[in-house]
Amino acid sequence: MNESPRLLVVQTAFLGDVVLTTPLLKALKEHRPGAYLAVLVIPETAAVLEGAPFVDDLVVHDKRGGGLRELRRVIREVRARKFDVVVSPHRSARSAIIAWRSGAPRRLGYRESALPRLYTERVPRPREGHETRKILALAEALGCHDSEARPVLVATEAERGAAREAAGGRRYVVISPSSVWPTKRWLPEGFAAVGDHLARRGYAVMLTGGPAETKPAAAVAAAMEAPATNVAGRTTPRELAALVAEAALVVANDSAPVHLASAFDTPTVAVFGATVPAQGFGPLASRSAVSEVEGLYCRPCGAHGGRRCPEKHFRCMRELTPAGVIATVDRVAR
Ligand code: SF4
Repeated sequence: MNESPRLLVVQTAFLGDVVLTTPLLKALKEHRPGAYLAVLVIPETAAVLEGAPFVDDLVVHDKRGGGLRELRRVIREVRARKFDVVVSPHRSARSAIIAWRSGAPRRLGYRESALPRLYTERVPRPREGHETRKILALAEALGCHDSEARPVLVATEAERGAAREAAGGRRYVVISPSSVWPTKRWLPEGFAAVGDHLARRGYAVMLTGGPAETKPAAAVAAAMEAPATNVAGRTTPRELAALVAEAALVVANDSAPVHLASAFDTPTVAVFGATVPAQGFGPLASRSAVSEVEGLYCRPCGAHGGRRCPEKHFRCMRELTPAGVIATVDRVAR
């Protein structure tokens, strides 16, 4: 690879996946400071990478709303930018096709991706380790070794100030009871008990959730005795990132806020149910811990969790007691 290559990283998955891709972006830029590095993302996640010192530009692809016409458009845009190397941690057929049609002479994807023959280099995806390490295997294939595995993002002072203001200027915790997958959601009354405990310890409580996931936060707010500020569905990804950056503690299911907390090194308690940390999505903040029901025969029951408990008892979350999670919170909270 020359000293000033034009690089494109394709990551069109959810917010958490984009956050977990930041060590790859940073590694590529650090090992090739003269490189031009663009990232292909969906509109919902683009803003979170704005201002990141290791990203030169974004290519935005509306893969859900634009159909075939949008796919053709983004391929034209990528071709016009004349990339030397395309790297795709995203394993879909669409990402492979975009890489293939980019015209880039080097195209790296996982051997386990859809349509792997469309890549010129097929990198074995590590079976063990954190997801960030699995993604960094692609950087290692380009000669970038010894890279930091913790995600990294940037929030401006203005964004951080707005987050502090949203919490009324008080020391606060973020509780995020949502997840795209219902089997990854701990019970609202559990989060409510944790919220009340932290309120008694003097923290303001901020409840968060994505635009399509406002019900869990509303249920927690209704079950809490102490007042909480519910901003679920009302934060942009950057606002959510700044809230997490300034929080004293994040308590969340296995979901994007855990990875945002890793990126800002915010103390974290991650609650795991249908999934387990060994699948690669545990917290990486220097003060962090996991709450889970250990030794349960059916865990994990899927790569990402599912809509319903296949065993119909949901013991992975029902047996997770508020007292147990509170004990973990008290170990981690500053
Ligand atoms: S099968 Fe087990 S791990 Fe999966 S949702 Fe049900 S209780 Fe949880």
